[in-house]
Amino acid sequence: MLVTDLDGTLLGGETDERLSFYSWLRRERQRVLHVFCTGRSLNSIKGLLREQRPMGLQAPHLVISDVGCTVACGTSLQPLPEMLVPIEALWRGKRRKLAPLLKDVPGLSPQPVSTDRRLGYTYQPERFDPALIPRLERHGVDCLLSGERYFDVLPAGVNKGSTLRLLLEWIGIDDGRVVTAGDSLNDLAMFETGLAGIMVANAEAALRSLLPRLPRTYGARAQGCAGIVEGLHHFGFGHLFD
Ligand SMILES: [Mg+2]
Repeated sequence: MLVTDLDGTLLGGETDERLSFYSWLRRERQRVLHVFCTGRSLNSIKGLLREQRPMGLQAPHLVISDVGCTVACGTSLQPLPEMLVPIEALWRGKRRKLAPLLKDVPGLSPQPVSTDRRLGYTYQPERFDPALIPRLERHGVDCLLSGERYFDVLPAGVNKGSTLRLLLEWIGIDDGRVVTAGDSLNDLAMFETGLAGIMVANAEAALRSLLPRLPRTYGARAQGCAGIVEGLHHFGFGHLFD
């Protein structure tokens, strides 16, 4: 199972490297279970797949979207209700409770995309006051800053890593057959699962500085798709490219 973040990771790298990696994914579709694991919403993924069709990027088998708050079938993009029950339960009533704290905050703007079971914002690092974070987290949520741009409010304990763990348990895949890849701070939870992880070379500086603390994560020298390929070789999956 290959679990890839999208922006900067599966969508990163030179055009020729991306074309060849997407064509490999199509060819190996019966052997490689591909999961998108992204901060984007299902709607945004739908648009992206349409946009990327000329590049040959096909729909994955499964999708973890909304930074771990949604799990869906990759081809239909229909959410998988059994996976959402525990996340829904943690999120119930949160939006209403947090609304007064999140009203007219300097340096914070709601993301234009629709979001489920979380709140998504963009923030301006020079204007946003991080003192808001503990005040929000008191209400049973986690706040996640990434890419020096994104500010997500998630149900406490829910992230890309926790939802990937739930998914692996649900499908019944051994840890040794899973590789993850990412480039930003919202991928840290994936790298902290202890599964094999690939940090692509274009990863944000704040994430790269944590590499020494992530024993199962490989720091690739190449960017985006080329970094994923390099990492798959590193973890002993090079035969899949023969
Ligand atoms: Mg990314």
